[in-house]
Amino acid sequence: MPNTTQKPGKIEMACNCGKLRGHGLNISSKTGRHVVCMCDDCQAFARFLGQPQDILDCNGGSEIFQISPSQIRLVEGLDHLACMRLSPKGPLRWYASCCNTPVANTAPSPALPFAGVFCVFIKPRAASGRDAVLGPVKMRFFGSHGYGNIPPGTQKKFSAATIIRTIFWLIGHKIRGNGKPTPFFTDHKSPVSEPIVLTKQERAQLAIPTAAPSAG
Ligand SMILES: [Zn+2]
Ligand SMILES: [Zn+2]
Repeated sequence: MPNTTQKPGKIEMACNCGKLRGHGLNISSKTGRHVVCMCDDCQAFARFLGQPQDILDCNGGSEIFQISPSQIRLVEGLDHLACMRLSPKGPLRWYASCCNTPVANTAPSPALPFAGVFCVFIKPRAASGRDAVLGPVKMRFFGSHGYGNIPPGTQKKFSAATIIRTIFWLIGHKIRGNGKPTPFFTDHKSPVSEPIVLTKQERAQLAIPTAAPSAG
């Protein structure tokens, strides 16, 4: 029998230099969603961190495991947990300031129990070892912003079905109270690290270099 009923377990999480460390709890292909996001914002975040070649795949995609914040425990090096936003209204993008490893994307407020953890922050780093725990990539988004040979089945942006599924997913986590505990917000609901917010000009400098100029 193929191993399709793997029990949820614990995974190690660490930045590239190992200063920021923690683990994920109750992790399996059923308790999280293994996705690739090719959107221009995730690509800009990789450029902001100065190492897009290590973060992005051959399509400009970021491999992400979507879970609830309560599944994440950061236990070491919390003073290295930094935060930025590509615009004043964008999601919070968390990273390890010691070595610029991306950590996770979250909503701006803890009210939405969502964390998209970057797989480069999850151990083992080898995709084969990781897939054994997370399951294979289930969905690829924003193929319209990707480059190279986009894998078949990639959604152009988000499909309506994905949006609906995500809303139900969030409601489920909200009802179960999975927004807490969270490593990203204080008890007073503010980010544990003050976000750096990029100006329009700074964001423009991170634009996809190969993208054709658009009229809008
Ligand atoms: Zn580090
Ligand atoms: Zn994205």
